[in-house]
Amino acid sequence: MHFDHLESADPDVTAALTDEVDRQNDTLAMIASENHVSEAVLEAQGSALTNKYAEGYPGERYYGGCEPADEIEELAIERAKELYGADHVNVQPHSGSQANMGVYLAVLDPGDKILSLDLTHGGHLSHGHPANFAGQVYEVEQYEVDAETGRLDYDELRAQAEEYDPDIVVSGYSAYPRTVEWERIQEAADAADAYHLADIAHITGLVAAGVHPSPVGVADFVTGSTHKTIRAGRGGIIMCDEEYADDIDSAVFPGMQGGPLMHNVAGKAVGFGEALEPEFEEYAQATVDNAKALGDRLQEHGLDLVSDGTDNHLVLIDLRPSHPDTTGKEVEEALEEAGIVLNANTVPGETRSAFNPSGIRAGTPGLTTRGFDEEACEEVADLIYEVVDAPDDEDVIAEVSARVDELTDEFDLYGEDSEGLVYE
Ligand SMILES: *Cc1c(COP(=O)(O)O)cnc(C)c1O
Repeated sequence: MHFDHLESADPDVTAALTDEVDRQNDTLAMIASENHVSEAVLEAQGSALTNKYAEGYPGERYYGGCEPADEIEELAIERAKELYGADHVNVQPHSGSQANMGVYLAVLDPGDKILSLDLTHGGHLSHGHPANFAGQVYEVEQYEVDAETGRLDYDELRAQAEEYDPDIVVSGYSAYPRTVEWERIQEAADAADAYHLADIAHITGLVAAGVHPSPVGVADFVTGSTHKTIRAGRGGIIMCDEEYADDIDSAVFPGMQGGPLMHNVAGKAVGFGEALEPEFEEYAQATVDNAKALGDRLQEHGLDLVSDGTDNHLVLIDLRPSHPDTTGKEVEEALEEAGIVLNANTVPGETRSAFNPSGIRAGTPGLTTRGFDEEACEEVADLIYEVVDAPDDEDVIAEVSARVDELTDEFDLYGEDSEGLVYE
């Protein structure tokens, strides 16, 4: 990574930025929503497009000088359409939360009713949590996963939709390790004559590659983040049928945003282009295979996984059965000390607080980008287990940390040798 100009202009920011690049190089990024974009995406995002105002949409801008911006936004849109088979795509939302906001603004009135998954069961703040604008502007009722199986109960959801009569049913989750059956959620939405928003933020890459079923063509609206399992840089996206195109576009601009972040739109164009390459399908499949290998090995160690396993890129460990006196936060902190970065997470039927919950969530998108295979992920599971079992043991932490150093050297990232960025 070169920071030639930055280094002379601003040594303080350079120092912190260099620390961050080193941190990403030297630790295992297992936060399930994180990934590493290519250097091509980094260059697009760190470009002169940050200078350009392009309010409006390609061909209909409120400012002059938008020709290159138009070309870039059109590339991003066309590539996303090809990836997802969507009729209409809006690539301007600044992030996944803004994508959801755009949909609400397009089709709901204040006080309308949202039916969405409870945050502690794997939902997202932007689905109507009281701390989020969605919870303040709309009326919200939440569904839960089945306490026994950790899985969605589609029959129950449908019954709840009939009872509550929402205006929109929101699906798509932050900590749900299983395949989502979009048609079954659509049935629940239909039963209440409600819209269906499928928020694929976490699985945008898996859906693009066809390793998770797609809600495009099923749900009325599909939203996502562009920086999680798809490596298109930080941002959001909305997809819908042509009939909602104008409503969505005017909700995003001028409804809730000003000028688009064109440098991020360029990152999306580049990342979507990469995702159209055949190698991306291999990457997405490897991400899922790696999560399965990680989960299987954690279970062999006697750890309990919510829903008893995974179909996607993440596992959710419930510490209570195997380690009732250990909290997720303790494990998160001990693992971070050892160089494995993931997050404490609530589990269905949570008995602790959201700040110090009973679970940990671990994902494989970042490791898979670095080239980790199933065997390497099994080793990571061994390391996680050692720390879960002895979070206060400094010798264990030191030993795990040494092993993490070897792994990060073997699977290099953004270093002199950027092999880790090649999808293998
Ligand atoms: C991550 C996520 C989002 C969007 O988050 P941003 O940080 O705004 O991109 C939205 N919905 C779900 C389910 C998520 O997991």
